[in-house]
Amino acid sequence: MSKRPDDQVLTETEALEVYKLLVEYGGADPSSESPFVGRNTNMRCSEFVALPELGFNGRFWRLEREMVCTCGGAESDELYDRIKELNDKLCHIVHKPTIMSNESVGDCVVTKANKLRVVNPHWFLTTSGEWLEQYACLLERIGRICYKSEDRITDDSADGFIKRIIRSGHESVLEHCSITVKVIGSRAMSHQLVRHRVHSSYSQESQRYCDYGKSDCLTVICPHVCSGGSLLPEGVYARNPNGDWIVCDNPSLKALSEGIICRWLDVVLACYQNYLDDRADGVKPEDARYILPNATKTEVQCTYGLRQWRNVFKQRALNPHAQWEIKGIFQSILKDFANRMPSLFGDLAEQIK
Ligand SMILES: Cc1cc2nc3c(=O)[nH]c(=O)nc-3n(C[C@H](O)[C@H](O)[C@H](O)COP(=O)(O)OP(=O)(O)OC[C@H]3O[C@@H](n4cnc5c(N)ncnc54)[C@H](O)[C@@H]3O)c2cc1C
Repeated sequence: MSKRPDDQVLTETEALEVYKLLVEYGGADPSSESPFVGRNTNMRCSEFVALPELGFNGRFWRLEREMVCTCGGAESDELYDRIKELNDKLCHIVHKPTIMSNESVGDCVVTKANKLRVVNPHWFLTTSGEWLEQYACLLERIGRICYKSEDRITDDSADGFIKRIIRSGHESVLEHCSITVKVIGSRAMSHQLVRHRVHSSYSQESQRYCDYGKSDCLTVICPHVCSGGSLLPEGVYARNPNGDWIVCDNPSLKALSEGIICRWLDVVLACYQNYLDDRADGVKPEDARYILPNATKTEVQCTYGLRQWRNVFKQRALNPHAQWEIKGIFQSILKDFANRMPSLFGDLAEQIK
């Protein structure tokens, strides 16, 4: 299998889970044997999509939409959240470059200079999920040295021990483990993110070295206040000859012809056009980027120690003053961590409002 960037990773467990959901909801062929068993732990989703033996080739886009539809009929809130989460991940991964430059959609010839891609903030777990499930036991082994009570370790003693050390404020024990996630959001959000300094490491997409003149279009995050209170559907948006904005990969959506959202898309596109002009005039990406908006999509790999994760969750997921984007991302991460590591994060997840 070819090497691809980290963002296109589904763990084997997740890939199996998706497959089972697809079978359950009638999307995949149940007679085909599970294609994932025995493969590498990290499934590359694009390969997952393209694996011909799955019969997924060319069909995945449709299946993925079916998964969205099934959310409404899920038997429980947990199942709904899980399908939605996997689906969001897939939506991002299989976001095919549906609309290429010079392609026509209705009366609109889509060029690099009249389109933008809108994505919603999301995140990926970089650290192996299998490791996380062992952290409570590992931390118990480490922490019990303080009391020389290693002999009290049993098959199910870890959770109680961890909860007790958190309740007593003995949180330095949590520093022995860390978790890395990749966060995808706006540059506005990433300024907030990187203010967390203690037991924190970051690697961020560089606007000096990434040349957005070479990419198919600029990818941006749209604040929901600009789009009438809910997040804009993800997709490629292009301005047609009338000045209306159409959603190229979802023609059933109504064209946007007025309001804050059109003004917002117009200005963001104008910034990108200026960037492209500067690049054409020989300005380096590191200088051309000065015109790019805070809405520009960025990717950050964040590593925090578990103690710092708890601290960041308090400030960004539970604080009523945290901004919607970082709050949404960290609430979603907190829920995921609480499912995987209830003794370490369950108390915080219960406080999400
Ligand atoms: C709702 C909200 C609004 C904000 N608005 C603004 C704003 O308008 N302008 C702005 O500049 N920032 C703003 N911030 C950022 C904020 O001031 C912090 O820089 C950011 O939240 C990181 O927090 P921290 O310093 O606790 O994190 P970290 O740097 O990760 O520190 C973690 C913890 O270590 C301890 N610590 C770290 N450094 C020290 C130190 N020097 N001395 C003693 N203890 C230390 C503290 O207990 C701290 O909580 C905002 C944050 C939030 C959540």
